[in-house]
Amino acid sequence: MPVKKALIIGAGIAGIATAIRLAVKGYQVNVFEANSYPGGKLSEFEQEGFRFDAGPSLFTMPQYVDELFRLAGKNPAEFSSYQKLDVVCRYFYEDGTRLNAYADPEKFAAEINQQTGEPEASVKKYLKNSSNIYSITSHVFLEQSLHRLKTYLNWGTVQSVFRFPQIDAFRSVHKANESFFKDERITQLYDRYATYNGSNPYSAPATLNVIPHLEQHYGAYFPEGGMYSIVTSLVKLAESLGVVFHYNSPVDEIILEKQTAKAIRIKDDVMLGDVIVSNMDVWFTYHRLLKDHPRLFPKKS
Ligand SMILES: Cc1cc2nc3c(=O)[nH]c(=O)nc-3n(C[C@H](O)[C@H](O)[C@H](O)COP(=O)(O)OP(=O)(O)OC[C@H]3O[C@@H](n4cnc5c(N)ncnc54)[C@H](O)[C@@H]3O)c2cc1C
Repeated sequence: MPVKKALIIGAGIAGIATAIRLAVKGYQVNVFEANSYPGGKLSEFEQEGFRFDAGPSLFTMPQYVDELFRLAGKNPAEFSSYQKLDVVCRYFYEDGTRLNAYADPEKFAAEINQQTGEPEASVKKYLKNSSNIYSITSHVFLEQSLHRLKTYLNWGTVQSVFRFPQIDAFRSVHKANESFFKDERITQLYDRYATYNGSNPYSAPATLNVIPHLEQHYGAYFPEGGMYSIVTSLVKLAESLGVVFHYNSPVDEIILEKQTAKAIRIKDDVMLGDVIVSNMDVWFTYHRLLKDHPRLFPKKS
């Protein structure tokens, strides 16, 4: 059997992870990246002899990075190490209030109470709500593919459907947060989580109040060598599996045959693939790489 070819557009963290998964499945993988370096939004820069991470600063759920090493039969500890943070971040308010965001929910509730007078019970109730939303949504939206029928035909999903009213989808993040807290600094603190995926807390559904659960329950981590070391260690793993990265290679088009992606084009070069994956932002994938197929563009409902 000839080796199947996978072409990946973009060497962001998701493109690298996909390259590793496909290489483990036996594909010959080529990744085409527009930039001269891998990582996408997870990048770094140097200034005056110092290295700075640019983009993400908070590493949650490291188990999903470790999983990539395990899938490849490697020990994650040989490639990377990270430490759990006691204080996830610090909050500075214009009125001089300072808050240490302890990962431990008990300690954080006590800190909020000491610095702002907000009752500890309100913080604990809020985090319980966040945990409840997580338990209803995580296995449907995070752990399974929405494109597979079996996601909808299992008992866990059915249970989640019955608990749907509890995910707080019909009011905004801000409306929900101000119903939990008297002190507007704490409402503002929890409103900011909506911005993690670029949402506006005044209009995004309160289901996004699931996010604090990740930091306050699973904790936040810091990789040795900084956030960019996640990229370098995964690229090293991918290359050890035979993945080839092509930098300075912006893809111009995805070529379709009967509505199935068959090839990519970079300037005049056309490359055929059995699997083609776009790691570009979805809007740009449709509007730039599939611009001759406007009927395929996802529509707003
Ligand atoms: C300022 C900031 C702070 C953040 N903070 C956090 C945080 O603390 N914790 C956290 O978990 N997340 C955080 N995020 C979100 C996180 O960075 C992203 O969710 C994640 O990096 C996205 O990875 P990706 O691989 O999906 O996409 P991207 O990183 O966007 O990768 C897409 C890649 O495709 C390439 N590309 C685009 N067009 C083409 C083309 N035509 N041909 C070839 N290649 C192409 C791009 O150059 C890029 O490398 C933050 C994001 C930003 C911007």
